[in-house]
Amino acid sequence: MLQTRFDLTQKDIPGQWYNIAADFPEPMAPPLHPGTREPVGPEALLAIFPEALVHQEASTERHIAIPDEVREILALWRPTPLFRAVRLEKLLDTPAHIYYKYEGVSPAGSHKPNTAVPQVWYNKQEGVKHIATETGAGQWGSSVAFACKLMGLDCKVWMVKVSYHQKPYRRMLMETYDAKVYSSPSDQTAFGRSILEKDPHCAGSLGIAISEAIEATVTTPGTKYSLGSVLNHVCLHQTVIGQEAIAQMELAGEYPDIVIGCAGGGSNFAGIAFPFLQQKIRDKRPTRIVAVEPSACPTLTRGELRYDFGDMAKMTPLMMMYTLGSDFMPPSIHAGGLRYHGMAPTVSHALKLGLIEATAVKQREVFSASATFARTEGLLPAPESGHAIAAAIREALAAREEGRKKVIVFNMSGHGMLDLAAYEAYFDGDLQDV
Ligand SMILES: *Cc1c(COP(=O)(O)O)cnc(C)c1O
Repeated sequence: MLQTRFDLTQKDIPGQWYNIAADFPEPMAPPLHPGTREPVGPEALLAIFPEALVHQEASTERHIAIPDEVREILALWRPTPLFRAVRLEKLLDTPAHIYYKYEGVSPAGSHKPNTAVPQVWYNKQEGVKHIATETGAGQWGSSVAFACKLMGLDCKVWMVKVSYHQKPYRRMLMETYDAKVYSSPSDQTAFGRSILEKDPHCAGSLGIAISEAIEATVTTPGTKYSLGSVLNHVCLHQTVIGQEAIAQMELAGEYPDIVIGCAGGGSNFAGIAFPFLQQKIRDKRPTRIVAVEPSACPTLTRGELRYDFGDMAKMTPLMMMYTLGSDFMPPSIHAGGLRYHGMAPTVSHALKLGLIEATAVKQREVFSASATFARTEGLLPAPESGHAIAAAIREALAAREEGRKKVIVFNMSGHGMLDLAAYEAYFDGDLQDV
């Protein structure tokens, strides 16, 4: 029987996170103070994040140990499986070998608990009692709610209004984990109220929800904030994905020519890509590493590389990143997790240095690819992950044209079981390419 599933055991859960900052051929530009535009030290972040995470944010150490207790919780779903998609290969009639790392087996159904768990754990060590955060499609909110419940912290989530209504099941999942969920813009914060005054029907955005959660953090004692993507420490925590994938590709006896991940804020892409990028830099391997984003929110392919704010109220430090502008309002595409105006500074830096590539796909191609995947491999992809699948299919078809074998690995960042309404819209012909 052809082996199509490559499993590691619990003891193979990585003992360290990998920090790409140690291996960039040029250092990254520092974050700047929003008022003075002078470089800010990590202290500026202590008002909203615990010390350990602020330290990781600025760290250039190559490896950072994963605390034992965090590994024990990660073991609820890690190591995640890596599969070879032989039925998809067959349908495409391609000489390419297509592998995918499946992060949908986590409790929240995506890669996001990989960082929610350590973030909440470090907060708990420093005596924090409440976590405030935002969520777009609800993936991040359910991950934080899950982690908080497990470790006994209390959790408040500002959920982008359009998703609050489009995705009630994610809200119910957060509530099952005992989180308090607000539709953003909300009347709970001064910033939310100011938006509602101007536009009572505002559909919300991640930028607004982030501003509300940060405001709640700085005005409520014992509260810290938690972010699900973009920041260095978040990308760091996701590198368990790529480290496991490297070990699993060894079991498969192949090495990827192309590594693919979808990119919203950049964290699952960083997670699969950076450990391979380390080998590309160190061993001069020719691996192509591709970030895939929606054409409707084309941060890497059409944004500008410059200093910008992480939130709409312009409260965060300025970060050097590809951005569409912090007041960009992305259209309501069905991959809510990819509707962010900026891109992780680490991913932005890797693109600037030419170490990775970026491409954009429209949502109908995404759903067509996702449906093809479900019909061959059985698993229903999250619409975000569908972007990576669409790019993998393009590469596999290109391999067919060129008549040569290519080894493709993509990250399937989550399952789409709570996104079936979006699939229905696609099947009914109601999905537009914006
Ligand atoms: C949130 C999310 C993403 C996008 O976030 P990144 O930080 O870019 O990884 C992608 N896929 C899924 C399933 C998500 O939930």
